[in-house]
Amino acid sequence: MRVLICEDEPEIADMLASFLAADGHEPIIALTGAEGLARFAHDSPDLVLLDVMLPDVAGWDVLTEIRKTSNRPVVLLTALGRLDDKVKGLSLGADDYIEKPFAWEEVRARIAAVMRRYRPVSPGITVDDLQKVVLVHGRAVHLSRKEYRLFKLLYSEPGKVFSHTEIIAKLWPRDAYATPQDVQKYVYLLRRKIEDDPAHPRFIQTVHGFGYRFTGQEDAP
Ligand code: CA
Repeated sequence: MRVLICEDEPEIADMLASFLAADGHEPIIALTGAEGLARFAHDSPDLVLLDVMLPDVAGWDVLTEIRKTSNRPVVLLTALGRLDDKVKGLSLGADDYIEKPFAWEEVRARIAAVMRRYRPVSPGITVDDLQKVVLVHGRAVHLSRKEYRLFKLLYSEPGKVFSHTEIIAKLWPRDAYATPQDVQKYVYLLRRKIEDDPAHPRFIQTVHGFGYRFTGQEDAP
């Protein structure tokens, strides 16, 4: 996992970077807010550890700027006991916060907890099951309840072909009037939201005569 550390104190940044690297992650250090935003845009990290007290741009502004384009997880590093900071951070869209001074074990546990909510499904698609949001290339796509359930069913077993009958039985078991046309309708709506080109779907593919399957493979037939 690629982790952006936006922190102006080099000792803290280096300490976090070495622990992250030891755990097999790829740390990126930014010592100012401006550098952090530039690296975020350029390196597309999976997670951001963001110090609130930065020398140039406030951590809040960095967070607000990130949230304009991305739903990627951001964990704030705040000064001990600053309750206002925590409330403000969460209201601006932070996923969690860690009080300084911190122990590495706590940082590791918080990162793991945040990342459990973002399950990478295939290249380009991530699902946040807690918020019921699908991220396509880092962009949040809001699905209706039926669309979300259909998507979840298909991605639960990548590559498996689900027939119309099976989809109806799993999603609408008590609806005696559900038809294959309903399934087609929701596949159509889902593709319009998540596919780059709904006419040539990459994620949800039709297997003619059988049904649908989820695949994230670029070169799938
Ligand atoms: Ca600082």
